[in-house]
Order: sequence, then C-alpha cells, then structure tokens
Amino acid sequence: MLRVLVVVLLVLVAVFVVLVRGTFSVSKPGREVTINRLYSLASANRVREATLLDQEAQVVGRFCPSGRVSGCRSGLVSFHAAYPQSDVATQQLIDRLGGRARLEVRHQTGKAVARLVITFVLPLMILAALFGIIFVVAAAGGDSDLAGVVGFGRLGKKQKREKATEDAVTFADVAGIGDVVTEVQEVIDYLRDPTKFEAFAAVAPKGVLLFGPPGCGKTLMARAVAGESGVPFITASGTDFVESLVGVGAARVRDLFSQARELAPAIVFIDEIDAVGRTREGEGVSGGEREQTLNQLLVEMDGFDVSSGIVLMGATNRPDILDAALMRPGRFDRHITLEPPDADGRAEILAVHARRRPVAADVDLFDVARQTPGFTGADLANVINEAALLAVREGQEGGQVSARHFSEAIQRVLHGPHRGKLMTADERYRLAVHESGHAVVASAVGRRTDIHRVSILAQGAGVAKTSMGGDGDRVLLTDHEIQDRLAIMMAGMAAEARLCDRPSTTAENDIAQATALAKEMVGLYGMSAGIGPVRVLARYGGFLSADGTSMEAIGDQSIETFDTEVRQLIETAKDHATQLLTDHQPALTNIITTLEQEETLEGTALQQLLDTVTPSSTNGHHPHNDTPTRDLRGL
Ligand code: ADP
Repeated sequence: MLRVLVVVLLVLVAVFVVLVRGTFSVSKPGREVTINRLYSLASANRVREATLLDQEAQVVGRFCPSGRVSGCRSGLVSFHAAYPQSDVATQQLIDRLGGRARLEVRHQTGKAVARLVITFVLPLMILAALFGIIFVVAAAGGDSDLAGVVGFGRLGKKQKREKATEDAVTFADVAGIGDVVTEVQEVIDYLRDPTKFEAFAAVAPKGVLLFGPPGCGKTLMARAVAGESGVPFITASGTDFVESLVGVGAARVRDLFSQARELAPAIVFIDEIDAVGRTREGEGVSGGEREQTLNQLLVEMDGFDVSSGIVLMGATNRPDILDAALMRPGRFDRHITLEPPDADGRAEILAVHARRRPVAADVDLFDVARQTPGFTGADLANVINEAALLAVREGQEGGQVSARHFSEAIQRVLHGPHRGKLMTADERYRLAVHESGHAVVASAVGRRTDIHRVSILAQGAGVAKTSMGGDGDRVLLTDHEIQDRLAIMMAGMAAEARLCDRPSTTAENDIAQATALAKEMVGLYGMSAGIGPVRVLARYGGFLSADGTSMEAIGDQSIETFDTEVRQLIETAKDHATQLLTDHQPALTNIITTLEQEETLEGTALQQLLDTVTPSSTNGHHPHNDTPTRDLRGL
C-alpha cells in the first residue's frame, strides 16, 4: 500500500513538473516590441500579421523593419509584444490593427485546461497522496521518527501492556504491605467477578490512587493487583500526556482508554499522575493543554460505567498538588499511602528478594533491616543485588551471599562504591580521630548499639563515615534526644580540637547537619527559651517529598534571637561532646589506634571496643540542666 502511494506521488510530481514547463512557457519569437510601438507600426502599415495568444498574453506576428509591408525590401521580421489582458485592450488592438494587418485571435483552449489542472487538480492529488502516505505510516505505528511525529494522538511504544500471564507479579512478591492488601481486595474481587457486585448493586472503586515516595513499590503494587485479579495491566506515565501541542494529551488519554476498553477487564496504571493531574488554579501559558488533558481524563473516568471492568490506578509522590476533581468520589475514590517500610517491613522485603538467592545462614535479615533505616523497597532490592554482585565477584564455587557482603552492599548503596582514595598518614590519623569522636560520644549518650560501622575509608562523595541506625523509624524525639544527636554530630570536631592541632574541613557535613537540626529545634519545635513556642521556620516541600525549611516573616529582633539560640545550642552540644570525650579519653585513644589499623570497624569488634564507654554518668545529664537560663523544658 505504502509503495503504491509513493509511486503515485512520484508520478504526480513528475506530471506536474512537465506540465508546468509546457504550459507556463511563453512563446517569444523575434524582436520584443511594446504594445504602443506595435500600434504605431500598424498605423504606418508596417505590420503584416498579428496573432493574439489569449492564455500567454502575447501578441506575435511579423512586421517590416524598413518600411511598409507592401514592397518590404528588408524582408519581414518576427516580433512579440506583451499584451495587457483586458476587454479595453482587446478592443483597442482590433481598432488599431483591424484592416491594416491580418489579425487573428487564438484561443489556447488546451493551455487553459492544462493550467486549471496544474493549479487546482494536481496539487490536490499530490496532497492527498502525501496524507495517504503519512497515515499509512502512522497506522503501521512503526519506529520511524515520522511515526512519532504523525502518531501524536497515540500513546506510542512507551506505553506498555502486560497480558495476564503465569509469571505475573502477585502479593507474594510484595512485602510489608499488610494493611494495603485489604484496601485493594475489593478491586481484585470486582475484577475477578463483577457479577457479584452487580447483584448487590454495589459500586466498586473506580480509581485507586497510590501515594508514596519513589521506590516504595507503587508500580509493583499495581502490577500485583493485576496479577492477583488475572487481568491485563496497561501502563502509561503521566509525562506521556504532557505535550506542548494543545489537544494531543487529550487524544492520548482517549487512546489509552479505548485500548483499555478493548482489553477489559483490565487495570490501567498511570504513573506520575501529578504530571497531568496538577491542580488547575494559577496556571501559566502551558495551562491550556494540561487542563484539556485533565478534563479528558475526568471525562473518561466518568464515562466508563461500573460494569466495564476497568479500574484505574494512579501513582504519585505529590498528592498535595493533585486537582481536587480527581480525588472526588467516583474518580480516584480510594487513596492508599505507601510509606518507606519500618524495620519489620524492611526485613520482609529483604526476605522476598533473598528468596531467589543463595544467602548464607549467618545472615540475619532483621539485622540488615536494622542497619537500613529509611531505605525504600527499591533501595533494599538494590542492597541485595549489590551483595549478590560482591559475592559473584569473589567467585567462590558454591559461594553464598554472606553478612560481610550485605554490610558492604549497604555502604555502597548509601555512598556509592569505594573510591579507593589514597590518603596520607596524617589524614588517616585525623579521620580516625574524627570518626572515633562520633562513635565515643554516641555510646556515651547511650546509643552504642545503634552504631553499626565506623570507617575511615573514602566512600562516594564523603570521606569517612560513622553509620548509625536505630532511630530512623522513630516517630518523635524529645529535646534531650535531639541535643544528644547534636552532641554526636559535633563530636568529630570536638575530638579533632582535642587531639589535632588545627581544625580541618572534615567538619563541613557535621556542621551543616547540626545547624539544620538546631534551627528546627528553635524554629519548628519551640524548644528554646528565647523564641518560645512560636513558629519561626516554615517547612516547604510537599507531604512525603524532599523538604527543607525557610524563614517565616518575623521581626529583626526575633531573627537575632533565633540566631543566638541556634548558635548556643550548637556550641553547648560541642562543649558537651568535648566533656564526654574527656571523660572517656582512654576508650577514645583505644578506638583511634584500632581504627587507624583496621580502617573499618563493625559488628562485635566495634561493640567490644565501645564497651568501656558507659553512658551511666552522662545519660540524662545535659549541660543545660546546669544553666537554668537555658532550661528548655521550662517552656
Ligand atoms: P515506585 O513505583 O513506588 O517508584 P516500584 O514499584 O517501581 O516503586 O518499586 C521498585 C522496585 O523496588 C520493585 O521492582 C521491587 O523490586 C522493589 N520493591 C519496592 N517495594 C517493595 C515491596 N514492598 N516488596 C518487595 N519489593 C519491593
């Protein structure tokens, strides 16, 4: 078909070129004369014959250059004259030449028809052939760029369909989602047997919206729902619908739903739905297109009736920016939040991913889970994969993924692969001092078991690292606990101040973290006497998204007080850390020496070294208790 159309197009173009050349060429024989000159030649009886070519707007003929035609000695010469086509001019020509020369008018009917064909018929046919080619290509949906340009109203290859197959994802592949399963159970029941719902005239949820940060298993969950219900899974991303051409997004939404209707019962999953479903207020120039797309989505959602067997699932990590119309009953009426898993959830997820891998008996997945606070399902899958890769690299026959591999893998996922950065002996000592400081103060404030690993090896962007876990899952913290954290953060610097002659750049990250935390204490949690229970900071960033803080509009004086309070908190924390380090000098020295040799300390070896650091004398003893003016609990 395509070939035929291309041939037709080529033939048409060729005919067009030939005709244009033949028809629009103008015959200009002999000398050129103006029409007025022709008239005067005629009055002097010097023109023998003249022919008016009506399509070419020319008068051609012969005249005598030397004198009258009768008895012309020099012989007749051809001429041509441009002729302004009008009735008046024609009349004038007849008046002036009639009787004096042989005058003839040639109606060039052939040329007239050819011109009509060239100007109207052929271009139309060429255009038709072109469109024909374009649509054949688009319908074929090929991978060519042309198809991409032309098939703009379609979703194209990005959008995937999955047929219900034997190896579909099921809930067995998704871990740590106990409550969520009950939420989607109805959807599954409905897709499996819609008649059961009809009997009760019950309306199954039309749309399920999954909220949660990236990697928490939203896609996996949607896929599992499809797998459990045994229906096809159609996926598209919200960004597929975002185009600068108005109407294209809406056409794609229609396309998606028409595919779904063909395959129904089915699950349609739109990832990153916030790209289309953003709230419609206060939009700029691009608002028109997005609004149309969103409207189309709403129309489609209202359009499929309950018995059609289509359930729409959407995923986003920005529920705060979604348009209210999307969340209304009858649209996405079921909202499910997937959060980063807690320790038990993490252990379950690890277990799911460990199923297919030879994991050594000495690996305690609960222990790995404890070391990975804040990790999402995707991060954990990554940890297991990294651990397996490390085991592969060692390449022992019948080798297994051991606890050592896991520990290394966690660090890799956290900080990127080892950089193998070379360092001088001085730098080594300094890093050992810095990291030991963190470790000693952390155990001195009673968090010894939370320290998983102390290392002076350069990793990722950072240099050395003391890894702590344990309170990533905490729901709330008291002011004392935050002060302890501050002291742990400042301990590296305090240790360097005690044992090295000059401060160094290792403190950068600690200071940044400590400052942010101290600001939150004062500005968000009302934990300072100077500012009191007044909000000075505002959190920005949406629910579940990366966030930060910014200053509220407050008076100059408050800003000053805020600064002073933050500074005091950090300095007190540093003093506290220095005090704790002095109290535990022998243990500190001991750890520094070992760390310098071993480079990385973890597990029981680390715990034994820290054994001597007893929190008893300092636990619950906070420097601010000695300074009544800064009694934070007095608020
Ligand atoms: P999201 O859509 O929320 O960004 P995905 O569903 O794409 O996240 O998750 C990415 C990967 O993380 C999954 O393919 C899976 O391997 C892993 N994963 C996430 N959550 C879980 C979970 N609860 N149980 C098992 N694996 C999970």
